[in-house]
Amino acid sequence: MNTYSAPIRDMQFVLHDLLAISGQDLPGYGDLDRDFTQAVLDAAGKIAAEVLAPLNAVGDRQGCTLENGVVHTPKGFAEAFEQLREGGWTALDCDPDYGGQGMPYVIGLAAGEMFSAANMAFTMYQGLTHGAYSAIHAHGTDQQKATYLPKMVSCEWTGTMNLTEPHAGTDLGLLRTRAEPQDDGSYLITGQKIFISAGDHDMAQNVIHLVLAKAPGGGEGTRGISLFIVPKFLVNEDGSLGQRNAVSVGNLEEKMGIHGNATCVMNYDGARGWLLGDLHKGMRAMFTMMNEARIGVGLQGYSVAEAAYQNAAAYARDRLQGRAVTGDANPSGPADPLIVHPDIRRNLMDQKSFLEGARALAFWGAHLIDRAVLGQDKQAHDLVSLLTPVIKGFLTDKGFDTAVQAQQVFGGHGYIEEQGMSQFVRDARIAMIYEGANGVQALDLVGRKLAAEGGKPIMGFFELVKAEIKAHDGDAALKAGFCEPLKAASKDLQAAAMFFMEQGMKDPNAALAGSYDFMHLFGHVALGLMWTRMAAAARTSLDAGAGDAGFYEAKLATGRYYMARQLPMTATHLARIRSGAAPVMALDAERF
Ligand SMILES: Cc1cc2nc3c(=O)[nH]c(=O)nc-3n(C[C@H](O)[C@H](O)[C@H](O)COP(=O)(O)OP(=O)(O)OC[C@H]3O[C@@H](n4cnc5c(N)ncnc54)[C@H](O)[C@@H]3O)c2cc1C
Repeated sequence: MNTYSAPIRDMQFVLHDLLAISGQDLPGYGDLDRDFTQAVLDAAGKIAAEVLAPLNAVGDRQGCTLENGVVHTPKGFAEAFEQLREGGWTALDCDPDYGGQGMPYVIGLAAGEMFSAANMAFTMYQGLTHGAYSAIHAHGTDQQKATYLPKMVSCEWTGTMNLTEPHAGTDLGLLRTRAEPQDDGSYLITGQKIFISAGDHDMAQNVIHLVLAKAPGGGEGTRGISLFIVPKFLVNEDGSLGQRNAVSVGNLEEKMGIHGNATCVMNYDGARGWLLGDLHKGMRAMFTMMNEARIGVGLQGYSVAEAAYQNAAAYARDRLQGRAVTGDANPSGPADPLIVHPDIRRNLMDQKSFLEGARALAFWGAHLIDRAVLGQDKQAHDLVSLLTPVIKGFLTDKGFDTAVQAQQVFGGHGYIEEQGMSQFVRDARIAMIYEGANGVQALDLVGRKLAAEGGKPIMGFFELVKAEIKAHDGDAALKAGFCEPLKAASKDLQAAAMFFMEQGMKDPNAALAGSYDFMHLFGHVALGLMWTRMAAAARTSLDAGAGDAGFYEAKLATGRYYMARQLPMTATHLARIRSGAAPVMALDAERF
């Protein structure tokens, strides 16, 4: 069976050596010294490893079932959910006014990485609730907040996000669910939503659905969409649960992975709902929490891959096959362990160098959200908006690739279900699709984010890269191993951005044909920046003789690998972008 051990040493490195969180002048950051975060991460890591990870394969095999309209979760899920609630883990980064612990988002994200790595399907019940909590917190009336938030913070009630309909996925302007206004200020919601994660289950007393629907007078397309709170059980004035609302589960989807999470067809048959935020401004309300939700999915992509990598590394140390070409490494045994072979090393280094860079990027993104929200920092907001499609798209694509690479280390055994590697691959796959498919993330990046604020955010990103390179001018080792490759990669990104600016007006297809490559090009440069910063931090600690020298040496070697072996991909992406739309659009549709 697979195991998971929370990479706490590495998380501490990112939080303190890289992001220096305890020195940041932000509300809630004052307590975040090393001892405090160590204690929180240790406790979260224990739950992840001891409670959630053992249920991962159980959830995959049993899946959820629908009986008489009620969804049942796999054996052990309800007890584990109760443990999460009792430990206050659902309330970590929620508002103390509603029972939360008031910790910054970056700490919630760190715990989320461990929970998601240990059991992604299970953790989604809480993740969706957090998304719905954030929407009500940002847009709800005082009464709505008082009614729903305390129970959602504790996860006694969980939440969902209902956007998708059979004919309306990416193009939400097509959605048909209707909201009819009633005299008492409520609305009756009618329509069908599909693929609704955590749509129903047996782990909470109530499910609070956030539903996109069209109310009269809003016009066509996305402009007419509003957002509604539709509880499974209506809530009485005293906060107790009232009668069952007219919302039901039509079906449970059979799917490739995340079997422990209930993916539901939800039928709304005149269900009572209440407007959340402004009428006809539902998309705007959804978008305010999009950065957080998409970073959360980026985190799923690499966290599942982290669990897969840990098992692959252990297998490579254990499995004996063949001999090292440079002489026997295990002379008393029948063969050497897989890990002696350079090609297995390449595979493991690809994984390790991506995962550590991905963690740094996701944590940085979460910290930027804290600066934007807690510190009202507009620059941080604009930067994280730019980075969000990169974090979502690049980290989930590479996370899936990494899970496949981890599976490859097991040879044929990786393909056998009992080994558990197949589950990582199957689970990681969905993160590339939901919360905006990755192709759509790339369109968002090139079509909206690149030109946002007159291009200021991307210029700001280039300035950060430039400053990082300049800061290590006098350091020959950092310059050769990190700054020079980062400079070359950043030049490729600038050239690609320039290509879009020049071509975008003349031939919009040229920009769209290159958008996916641009997202990956950007992802590599962002990870290159993270690795340069991590290398500098590791060097500082080594020079100061602080702590475990082996850890910092390994950090530097892993970073050098990324810069030498992964970052050069930027040149390929640039070449593809520069080839424009012609090779992509050459054939008539009927030729396919
Ligand atoms: C397991 C699972 C859980 C889910 N959970 C939820 C949930 O909780 N709530 C919810 O509301 N939804 C949920 N979804 C739905 C998910 O968000 C959608 O499937 C996703 O947004 C894509 O929509 P679609 O499937 O209709 O694909 P389409 O929109 O039909 O897209 C198909 C393909 O075309 C591409 N594409 C679409 N438009 C364009 C364009 N203009 N230019 C270029 N390419 C384009 C897309 O990138 C995609 O690759 C879930 C889905 C699954 C499978």
